[in-house]
Amino acid sequence: MSETTPPTTEPVTPPTGTALEDRDDLEDLTELDFDPAAIPDPDGPAPRIVAFDIGEVLIDESRVWGIWAELLGVSPLTFAAVLGAAIVQGDDHRAVFPHLAPNVDWEEFEDEHERRYGGFHEVDLYPDVRSCLEELQQLGFVVVLAGNQPARRAAQLRALDLPHDHIATSEELGSDKPEPGFFSAMIDLVERARPQDALYVGDRVDNDVLPAAAAGLRTCWLRRGPWGHLQDLPDDVEVDLVLEGLGELPLLLAQWRGD
Ligand SMILES: [Mg+2]
Repeated sequence: MSETTPPTTEPVTPPTGTALEDRDDLEDLTELDFDPAAIPDPDGPAPRIVAFDIGEVLIDESRVWGIWAELLGVSPLTFAAVLGAAIVQGDDHRAVFPHLAPNVDWEEFEDEHERRYGGFHEVDLYPDVRSCLEELQQLGFVVVLAGNQPARRAAQLRALDLPHDHIATSEELGSDKPEPGFFSAMIDLVERARPQDALYVGDRVDNDVLPAAAAGLRTCWLRRGPWGHLQDLPDDVEVDLVLEGLGELPLLLAQWRGD
């Protein structure tokens, strides 16, 4: 009879040193044309518009990446690890493909990926999304859902019947984040809106928080998903809100407004 070693029961200490701030790669984030002075005063008037990024804010993208792992013939763990390394190095997520399948043209698999993914489904929604949007609308906030997505995702998002006032994808807006045109086109969806009237809620520092602030919007950094956990803010940047979930957002905004 062979002896077996019991699995270790030592508690795992969460990593604390994963911030990008010590890395040269942070330069990739600060290369954006960004003026820290453009950040709105957190003590100023509360926003009346709350705009949400889509991926990893509303939609848990686990299925997206799991299907890519399946198509490339690697485990979800391996895919996630390589994606995390790409994020920390400041690379685009597409950098994972040459690492995992150097001899494969991954773009040839896009149609098959889409067939297996089948678009957004209720199961992809983070569980705190629906109640947050409902509460915000009840409180009188204008709710906008807008992120870097192909136009076909707008219909899929509408089919989820989420409380909202406007939905727009980057393809429909004619501009992708982090371009300023994305934010100005999004603001134009709302009647008589100015950038400072809106709070943008996003999971990425480079694609959401910094460019939204540079465009004059209020910002909420939602620290969930791969980017939300791995990225960090440059030292000289403050955001209006930093949250780990959407549950508290309606209350915080109501308090900010002075309700
Ligand atoms: Mg996102």
